[in-house]
Amino acid sequence: MLDAPTIAATREAIAAARAGGRTIGFVPTMGALHAGHVSLIDRCRADGCFTVVSIFVNPTQFGPNEDLNRYPRTLDADRTACERAGVDVIFAPTAEEMYPPGEQTRVRPGRLADTLCGPFRPGHFEGVCTVVAKLFNIVQPDVAYFGQKDAQQALILGRMAIDLATPIRIVTCPIVRDADGLALSSRNALLSREERGQALALYRALCIGRDAILRGEASIGRIVAAMRNAVVQSAGSAVIDYLSLVDPDTLEPITPHCPRVLIAGAIRLGGVRLIDNLTVEIPPPTP
Ligand code: AMP
Repeated sequence: MLDAPTIAATREAIAAARAGGRTIGFVPTMGALHAGHVSLIDRCRADGCFTVVSIFVNPTQFGPNEDLNRYPRTLDADRTACERAGVDVIFAPTAEEMYPPGEQTRVRPGRLADTLCGPFRPGHFEGVCTVVAKLFNIVQPDVAYFGQKDAQQALILGRMAIDLATPIRIVTCPIVRDADGLALSSRNALLSREERGQALALYRALCIGRDAILRGEASIGRIVAAMRNAVVQSAGSAVIDYLSLVDPDTLEPITPHCPRVLIAGAIRLGGVRLIDNLTVEIPPPTP
């Protein structure tokens, strides 16, 4: 495994692999790797790709009052995890390598970024698009792997790849959860024991929403009220950013014609922001 801190070294290793006929697969991460990240690496390798993982806590996607400084950084453990998982190249640049002096260009996403997390994290998706566009230019992968855990991010980046005519196939992989259902997240390490107990409220609320849809409940208002109630009951101190039912392809409000619903939520526990989602197939109406 090559551990490359520079763009030049990364490009060189990838060029050699490409010259050898390999398909290049890319897994961008912010490190503090867990089984969710490893599932993306496993998929990339299972697809036969030369596997490149980036580890970069991207400052431009954090707002001024967000947790950039507190974000978990475990680079040595991440290297070991990548080695074990069979990664070919780790690209772990410095902030200066990614944002050299004088840089000023940004990639601004469109409507997909105006909903769900967007209003609560102004500038976040612009930071994500900017860094991923740079990473795409550095790695120039054939395929890039993202987690459904960040469903809105995966959609925005898929749109970006098309809109910027980047010839990269985007693969979205399923959410990996702890045994009790909590979606794995690097930020889970920041939860106190009590908060970890309350964190499950988000997944429980999503399940309540899913079950209501499967039962045929047609009122979005009633479904969301039941989900909110579930969070308030089991995580009294949580702040709910949103609990929403949207079209999984457009993130627009669902209509009677949507065959599937994305149930998505974000809550804050102490200073830790958690997101999660479930996709539900709407059962056909009974005659
Ligand atoms: P992050 O390091 O949080 O920026 O995540 C890097 C990639 O891993 C993103 O594509 C995430 O969607 C994905 N990811 C994070 N958590 C999970 C999870 N629990 N299951 C599957 N993928 C995940």
